[in-house]
Amino acid sequence: MTDIEDLVDEIEELKMEIDALKKEVHEIPPHKHCLNCGVAIPPDKTFCSKKCEDEWNNMVKRKKKFTYIWLLFLGILVIILMFTFR
Ligand SMILES: [Zn+2]
Repeated sequence: MTDIEDLVDEIEELKMEIDALKKEVHEIPPHKHCLNCGVAIPPDKTFCSKKCEDEWNNMVKRKKKFTYIWLLFLGILVIILMFTFR
């Protein structure tokens, strides 16, 4: 067998593998992923469990709090700068 025939064979095998993968991807039923942990869940749900929902909500709350603190800090910084450069 020549090198080119080897290569053609390999390409054919790859093509078959890609087709198999495409089929596999196509056969996965519609689903979503839990916002918190990423586990596959039915499309009508947002979280896989109550625990994940609570965890997510706590995280969002913490993020909001952090944003407020950050804005407050920026506001104070602006006031300080205004008084310093007057
Ligand atoms: Zn989850």
